[in-house]
Amino acid sequence: MLPASVRPVFDAVQARNPHEPEFQQAVHEVLHSIAPVLERHPQFVSGGIAERIVEPERQIIFRVPWVDDAGVLQVNRGFRVQFSSVLGPYKGGLRFHPSVNLSIIKFLGFEQIFKNALTGQGIGGAKGGSDFDPHGRTDAEIMRFCQSFMNELYRHLGEHTDVPAGDIGVGAREIGYLFGQYRKITNRHESGMFTGKGVQWGGAEVRTEATGYGAVFFAEEMLAVDGGSLEGKRVAVSGSGNVAIYAIDKAWQLGAVPVTASDSSGYVVDDAGIDVGLLRQVKEIDRARISEYAVRRPSARFVEGARPWEVAVDIAIPSATQNELDESDAAALIAGGVRAVVEGANMPSTPGAIAALRAAGVLFGPGKAANAGGVATSALEMSQNAARQRWSFDDSEAKLRVIMKNVHDSAFDAAERYGHPGDYVVGANASGFERVAHAMLAQGVI
Ligand code: NDP
Repeated sequence: MLPASVRPVFDAVQARNPHEPEFQQAVHEVLHSIAPVLERHPQFVSGGIAERIVEPERQIIFRVPWVDDAGVLQVNRGFRVQFSSVLGPYKGGLRFHPSVNLSIIKFLGFEQIFKNALTGQGIGGAKGGSDFDPHGRTDAEIMRFCQSFMNELYRHLGEHTDVPAGDIGVGAREIGYLFGQYRKITNRHESGMFTGKGVQWGGAEVRTEATGYGAVFFAEEMLAVDGGSLEGKRVAVSGSGNVAIYAIDKAWQLGAVPVTASDSSGYVVDDAGIDVGLLRQVKEIDRARISEYAVRRPSARFVEGARPWEVAVDIAIPSATQNELDESDAAALIAGGVRAVVEGANMPSTPGAIAALRAAGVLFGPGKAANAGGVATSALEMSQNAARQRWSFDDSEAKLRVIMKNVHDSAFDAAERYGHPGDYVVGANASGFERVAHAMLAQGVI
């Protein structure tokens, strides 16, 4: 139940955005968490902060026409939702996936505002993407699609305006094509207008690894407060993309044993622990389905059409997509003895799952805090681009570790301050919101 103080804001969001369930879900969660913040800061109420923050500053929807290898015309829809620039240039990834629609981009953009605020860096919140499905497309098709996408989007971007990065379906290859087209159209090698670039042409060390590594650093912080550690723990990871691969990699490095990976066809469980090299070969180089991992690895088996939460583990790191861990998955994890769930993906746990995990005393790290390492390292990439510098891998990873500790501590402290000790959902939302709200008040009604 939403507190009465924020109910009218949510009612207005529902009335104004009736066909956007994911956006409503994200707003509901944030409003629930910030009710105690509004109570303590009457100036946020009189300043209409909640009413203003739920409406994007700008939404762009555009046609993306392109021609496939068979010479057939294809038309996709492109999106960029520029939610808030009060703390810095709009910042957030691009997602290419057939499920993309305005609701999903708005939920991601809304979450991004608070996540970015939580990192302490000067970056606003945005998200974009397309309903284009890169699976099974040739490199030439991907390139033509990216070029057409950028033919429209370029006019809304810039290092001081809006700085995209990757997300589902947008990795190093797509970022290369998108950046190349921007450079061609504008005649500017503007390194700071995109993050996640190749390290040879303006990218930052550790950006590729940052989201997965950061989620595991966050897990380490949570476990430490609880008197535990990652040493010897069995970890279930979902997904087999950018976030999942590097979460698995860092879990190994910190002494844990990651035993699962998945994609939309099912999951693999490997009691010997996931072989990161083989996983990368299968998913990043061969671009094959996850079942291929089990074909090549005798200690693993593939479970079709299921999710990895039925495997008994100590720690779960959902790293695929939104709402991929529901109440029944939470029950299975609890029955298997899970101690912590740390979100690598954005909003992978349903509200019912979060409630069940919290009720069972499971530590829960929301994506807004736990996966903030990616965008935080993007901000470091922007700093390096602006200064024309390149920091070493070790130096960048050390900075990421400090940032994740600060993100953890900000969320933890805010949860205590607002009377919800140990509730990282309330803590992350409240802490991010405070920073955004103070800046909005200072900058007036715009
Ligand atoms: P990738 O495209 O690299 O990987 C996505 C993975 O999730 C793939 O294994 C994919 O499988 C799986 N997946 C996607 N959709 C579904 C679905 N509907 N059901 C089951 N599995 C699915 O994306 P990322 O690793 O970059 O992103 C993963 C999550 O992390 C997203 O929620 C993203 O928003 C979030 N995130 C990413 C950041 C980054 O830096 N990349 C930063 C912060 C958050 P398949 O190939 O079968 O589709």
